[in-house]
Amino acid sequence: FAELDEVEKYVGGSWDSVRGLLGGKGANLAEMVRIGVPVPDGFIITTEACNEYLSLGEQLPEGLWEQLLTSLKKIEASTGKSFGDPKNPLLLSCRSGAKFSMPGMMDTVLNIGMNDETVEGLIESTGDPKVAYDLYRRLIQMFGSVVMHIPDEKFEEIITRMRLKAGVKSDTELTADHWMAITEEFKNVFRFHTHHHFPTEPYAQLQMATEAVFMSWNGKRAIDYRNAAGISHDLGTAVNIVAMVYGNLGDDSGTGVALTRSGTTGEKHIEGDYLTNAQGEDVVAGIRMTKDLSDLAKEMPQVHAEFERVAVLLENHYRDMQDVEFTIEKGKLWMLQTRDGKRTSQAAVRIAVDMAEEGLISKEEALMRVTPELLDFFFHPQFDRQPTTGEAVGAKLLAKGLNVSPGAAVGVVALDADLAELWGKKEGKKVIMVRPETRPDDVHGMLAAQGIVTSRGGRTSHAALVARQFGKPAVVGVDDMDIDLTRRQITVGDKVIKEGDFISVDGTTGEVFLGEVPTRDPDVKDRWLLKLLSWADEYRTLGVWANSDYPVDASRAREYGAEGIGLCRTEHMFMEAERLPLVQKMILAEMEVQRSEAIKALLPYQREDFAGLFRVMDGLPVVIRLIDPPLHEFLPNQTALMKELADLKIQLQHAPNLEAIDDLLEQVRNKEHVLERVEVLREDNPMLGLRGVRLGNHFPELTRMQVRAIIEAACLVSRDGGDVRPEIMIPLTSHCNELKVQRQLLETEARKVMEEQGFEINYKFGTMIEIPRAALTADKLAEYAEFFSFGTNDLTQTTYAISRDDAESGFLIEYMVRGILPENPFETIDRDGVGELMRIAVDKGRKTNPDIKLGICGEHGGEAKSIALCHMLGLNYVSCSPFRVPLARLAAARAAI
Ligand code: ADP
Ligand code: MG
Ligand code: MG
Repeated sequence: FAELDEVEKYVGGSWDSVRGLLGGKGANLAEMVRIGVPVPDGFIITTEACNEYLSLGEQLPEGLWEQLLTSLKKIEASTGKSFGDPKNPLLLSCRSGAKFSMPGMMDTVLNIGMNDETVEGLIESTGDPKVAYDLYRRLIQMFGSVVMHIPDEKFEEIITRMRLKAGVKSDTELTADHWMAITEEFKNVFRFHTHHHFPTEPYAQLQMATEAVFMSWNGKRAIDYRNAAGISHDLGTAVNIVAMVYGNLGDDSGTGVALTRSGTTGEKHIEGDYLTNAQGEDVVAGIRMTKDLSDLAKEMPQVHAEFERVAVLLENHYRDMQDVEFTIEKGKLWMLQTRDGKRTSQAAVRIAVDMAEEGLISKEEALMRVTPELLDFFFHPQFDRQPTTGEAVGAKLLAKGLNVSPGAAVGVVALDADLAELWGKKEGKKVIMVRPETRPDDVHGMLAAQGIVTSRGGRTSHAALVARQFGKPAVVGVDDMDIDLTRRQITVGDKVIKEGDFISVDGTTGEVFLGEVPTRDPDVKDRWLLKLLSWADEYRTLGVWANSDYPVDASRAREYGAEGIGLCRTEHMFMEAERLPLVQKMILAEMEVQRSEAIKALLPYQREDFAGLFRVMDGLPVVIRLIDPPLHEFLPNQTALMKELADLKIQLQHAPNLEAIDDLLEQVRNKEHVLERVEVLREDNPMLGLRGVRLGNHFPELTRMQVRAIIEAACLVSRDGGDVRPEIMIPLTSHCNELKVQRQLLETEARKVMEEQGFEINYKFGTMIEIPRAALTADKLAEYAEFFSFGTNDLTQTTYAISRDDAESGFLIEYMVRGILPENPFETIDRDGVGELMRIAVDKGRKTNPDIKLGICGEHGGEAKSIALCHMLGLNYVSCSPFRVPLARLAAARAAI
């Protein structure tokens, strides 16, 4: 371990290559020695030796054994003990350690070197035959199970039987004679299972253990793990040979594991478990009740003080929280392993911030240590979970689906949007909306619900996207769930949940639970989180805006740090209960006057909406997109209409009197009319149909009304002293003439309103870039637009010619599973295609207008990798759902560092 400098010279210096050669465990043992942490003597057989051994067909490479003996001599010299010496025996541990920590490989054999002779020497040196035989039986047990794959129960059974026979409860009460007898029985177990005697020759033990570590690199579990984790198969494992220190020499000895700071909260105090008078893995094995490390301060105060000194040494060196394994031998502390510790999101944030404030790391490093996804945790309630098993406390699992929107939610089942809204909004109940799948006209129910569950659909289904947009926990594609909309109940296997019964949903894990599971609110005012985000703001150059349609969302977005609204979708406002009939009337109108009337009736609603947003976003820009979806989305479903019509006709045949006939006839005529319009509006490809700017050009009245609502609202709020900055955005433009026409229309109307109101409003006019042609002709569009906003959802759809709504439950999943597509392009922007179109649009747009403002408002605007791309392309801002604003602030800072 003391020759790390030479290793560094050999591999050329970098810590990564040192780890590659020595494995993580070995490299850190050597590093600890170098910085003065007490570590027992030892040496490392390199990963190169392992690879050589395997390529030679499981043959020790030439010279390896001689080198091993030379190293062993050095340990003998420094410890003053000899391997195999019956008087003063040296014992060794043989431990695997690859570059990356890897379950599935052979782990550790302790006490190598024990046999019938050396046991006598140990009785001599420890003065305690009980300790000596305990060490001996442990070697046979570990060697047997780890090297020879004898089931460990075979050994444990014998100990249990011995305890019963001796009439004692715990292992520690067994005497030397008991352990001696157990040792003999262990030898028999070994012979029975391997048909060989236990190898009593110390060097044979060492060689067999070493080769077993080498071979375990190619064990099935290890290979499976590497495949799953994407670790290369040619790294090989190192073997650490370490002089034993003894934690089982009495009450001033012990063994344990610890974190240098809390892995749960990040608090700065050492946290751990230990056992006195125990060895190695007794702590993890859970054989005895462990003690809390704080007890060590009372039991062995000097050891505890030494521990604190070592913890500081390690943290100062590794500049991160460490996870250590240690043993205390007669009041002396030995460290046996260190590595960066695992932690919760909350602890990750706190540790990064604390360490930066302590001057251990820089602010940049603190920002780089917290991955943006970790922040999700802070913005959603959670179920309490068992730290070890991860099971939700007090919960009964009902079914599992896809975890598409994180957080925990509890409520009563509502099987349709109207009921969800009634219960949620009007009656103030907590509701979980459960549907086979969702559609745009389900949004009001989803908004009123705590959480959403669907039995069909994938990660980019409507339900998933809307849920993420509004930060509602959601689980979709719960296949096992059978939703019966007529009997108003859900069945999963033999369990029946009636509408109105409680369920609980964890969108972080994809679990659905029976009944009410208790939740805990996260702390968004967490001091460390706020600090980290304030640092992020110092470093980022990208603006972070939010997509919000309602004032409540906008004010949340502001609270989370949004610097503007990058997308307000006006059509959501059309969906609300009182307005939908007006919208339908507008669509169904046969005569221009009727249409104008309906549109005018919508005006006050829209004006109210916008005024609300402007008030909340005082002093900040608000991008309002004019209506986008094809009109048929606002009309009732065609099949439902046909069914209703058929019902009416049946009723007509059984009508009791003339009056009823008249009434029914009227209804039939109405239905037929609606159905006719639905048929007229029906498009084979609505995604490529009459929508976006095409609607505004088709019904100029609609554009005029929306512009009027925006400018009137702006005047209203300005008059009250508000600082209003509206930006009007045209969706789905593909040709610059579309913009030209809309701009003329819009400017005329805006001018008219301002004159009426006697007020001047400073507004901007811009367009979305969501069609390849728009990106390719951005120089021409920039002649009419003061800003571009990349609508990357549609830009991805139109670039790939993939329908997002359909693809994910179908071939897109298959594509990703088979690796035909490396990533879901609807989650992370496809750099080579969509990203390239964006780059062209940025270049061309800026060429025409160097001051053009560029942003993104697709869902990608809240995803870390896509945010990095936007930074690279030099956009001015990203806009995402309010809940992802903090994440975007961090991601933008990391992109800038
Ligand atoms: P793992 O990777 O499974 O943690 P280790 O190689 O770290 O395996 O060994 C497990 C435990 O065995 C250690 O935490 C330590 O308690 C014990 N151990 C290993 N080597 C020694 C040694 N030389 N002296 C005393 N205990 C040891
Ligand atoms: Mg282990
Ligand atoms: Mg370990």
